[in-house]
Amino acid sequence: MVYTQMVGSIRCHIVSDGRQLSDGGGFFGLVPRVLWERVIRPDEHNRIPVALRSLLIESDAGLILVDTGQGDKLGEKEWRRLGMAPRRQRLVGDLRALGIEPEDVDVVLLTHLHGDHAGGATCWSSPEDPASPIAPTFPRARYLVQRMELADASFPNERTRGTYFPDNWQPLQAAGRLEVVNGGQRLARGVRSETVPGHTDSIQAVWVEEGGESLLFLGDTCSWAAHLERLAWVPAFDTDPMQSIEGKRRLRAIAQERNSLLVFQHDGQVVTGRLVEGERGPVVEAEISEKAWE
Ligand SMILES: [Zn+2]
Repeated sequence: MVYTQMVGSIRCHIVSDGRQLSDGGGFFGLVPRVLWERVIRPDEHNRIPVALRSLLIESDAGLILVDTGQGDKLGEKEWRRLGMAPRRQRLVGDLRALGIEPEDVDVVLLTHLHGDHAGGATCWSSPEDPASPIAPTFPRARYLVQRMELADASFPNERTRGTYFPDNWQPLQAAGRLEVVNGGQRLARGVRSETVPGHTDSIQAVWVEEGGESLLFLGDTCSWAAHLERLAWVPAFDTDPMQSIEGKRRLRAIAQERNSLLVFQHDGQVVTGRLVEGERGPVVEAEISEKAWE
């Protein structure tokens, strides 16, 4: 399902690489299951549905794609671990439904290099052949990545090794397609990124702003709506939980003041929403929802 949102005159599309199943404890960290299971009911293996959403922006600097999902370069074992059926070109299929071919994409902004965001950045050049050379999925695009993120990914530690896979960015470097940037960027008229450390040291959120309207693609700075309502709810994956909390506090205040449309990248239920003042602080009022379990 593709959702199209206008921000002023800027057309944005929420597209998807499908959904995976992840252990609920990963996304809810220290929060006891008796609390988070009121937000999302886990299956019998304690897994929750996790969306793999991307944002496509039709900007005056061309088509900008934010993140690329898991992609297709996974083996039997990985598909099983993610609770996914092996599939091909899920995200590219969503783009094609919009009449966009991979070679039409001008910029790919990778919020960070974790496998569920950068996996689809590259693909096997023969789609069914894992032994074929790995190539950029979007052959004409400039791929933007933060300098610190590339360093973290290139020299992972025991805790981050399981999600940083060189096949997701080295072929981009080899093809001269990877552009290393430092800090927030103005990508086009009304489109900018900012770094919001916490999940990783230089993870990015993306703003689309025009004519008093704004959209905030939160990425993993706040991957579920419930995490924005309860600042202490921080995923176990985050490398610096206290920075995550401060980042969320800051973004939440800005987004509430501006009545921004929030896009949640991984939330299994809430696709978009806006902040309204509830009895005990800001709450997310969903605008687009999806069924958690189908
Ligand atoms: Zn993620």
